[in-house]
Amino acid sequence: MSNRIEPIRSVKGTRDLLPPDTSLWQRVEAEAHRIFAAYHYGEIRTPILEETALFARGVGAETDIVTKEMYTFLDHEDSLTLRPEATASVVRAYIEHSLYNLGGVQKLYYIGPMFRRERPQKGRYRQFYQIGAEVLGSQNPLVDVEVIEMLVLFLERVGIREYQLLVNSVGCSTCRPAYLEALRVALQDVKGAMCVDCQRRADTNPLRVLDCKVEADQAIIEKLPKIIDHLDPECRQHFDRVSSELQARGLVYHVTPRLVRGLDYYTRTTFEITSGALGAQNALVGGGRYDGLSEMLGGPSTPGIGFSIGQDRLILAVQAAAVLQPGNPLAAYVVWMGEPTLAPAARLVRELRAQGLTVGIDYDSMKIKKAMGIANKLQARFAIIIGEGELASGKYQVKNMATSEQTELAPELIGEFVRDKLRITN
Ligand code: AMP
Repeated sequence: MSNRIEPIRSVKGTRDLLPPDTSLWQRVEAEAHRIFAAYHYGEIRTPILEETALFARGVGAETDIVTKEMYTFLDHEDSLTLRPEATASVVRAYIEHSLYNLGGVQKLYYIGPMFRRERPQKGRYRQFYQIGAEVLGSQNPLVDVEVIEMLVLFLERVGIREYQLLVNSVGCSTCRPAYLEALRVALQDVKGAMCVDCQRRADTNPLRVLDCKVEADQAIIEKLPKIIDHLDPECRQHFDRVSSELQARGLVYHVTPRLVRGLDYYTRTTFEITSGALGAQNALVGGGRYDGLSEMLGGPSTPGIGFSIGQDRLILAVQAAAVLQPGNPLAAYVVWMGEPTLAPAARLVRELRAQGLTVGIDYDSMKIKKAMGIANKLQARFAIIIGEGELASGKYQVKNMATSEQTELAPELIGEFVRDKLRITN
């Protein structure tokens, strides 16, 4: 019997992201940085730890997230929480740093991990990643449209073609109470036939009934009053402008009356993007207006709108679309033979890497056959061979691994040669 030590595994619902997949994560993030910058958003990085009260107020004390899913602990006498989402943090930072004094609208984006204690499954994790953007300081419906336009451009750039944009309006604190009353009344007649959760929600928070995923409840939900039919004139006008401008910009959307956010400070536009490539967890992006949130968090009255993309699901969809390939292909692998060639080989490798080429080398001495086998296995585009003969002549062998064509070149010409060839064959 060996008393082998049990290895420690990652925590349930969390996972390691490994190469070559991480290269896909980097490319997706690079595209987000590029496109959001083009729309003049600046990156914000907020702490992962926040006071629990921020989420109770900023996400809503009644939500599943706050009631069941947060990682909360006492740090001495302070209750702290690992952020389950970032909008509340962004608005907290907006208030804390008086960003409203800078004038104009503030356009911010973030990329990072979030934590929710949900039942793990494919596309649903306890540590997951979001890429999100927020605009603070404008009520203009054209801002809603621009936010959606930027999001769609980003998705298309990373190769997502198969998706649906769902849009709705949840009205505002003026028109929603009458709708909620109509919904409550309608629910009294039908709730007996619904799931136990809906029976409870019908009394505590009727809007959340519309979120119910239970199959048997769907036909009943279809027939409930729709908030879109209860908007006041300003909210109606806002929604109509969003709709007409989405059309004008060629952005295809589906009005989805069930798409609601069950909290008072969510207002007007809500949207979601789903993707058929994702299976059961098909929600890829959630977004909407939250004109009341800044005030709820003790800041000035400031309208806001934003979205959050589930990056883990985005990567699954990117992999399904297979437009971006993972990996960091090796431009060249340097083979050296005999101790005197090691130093010049290492010098060449450093120079090529400094030029931005991805280059491999092994420092253990080995036979050429084995070294070429490694170059093959690593799928290097070129093998650069330096033996004592090459050292004496001052010209190294550069072998194109696909064609086996071999060229003799002085070391200082190799970088340009490889780059040139790669550009041609790429
Ligand atoms: P939400 O903040 O709930 O509106 O979620 C925004 C997006 O984040 C969703 O559309 C999902 O793509 C993603 N998301 C939410 N929860 C999880 C989770 N537990 N695991 C993976 N992705 C998630």
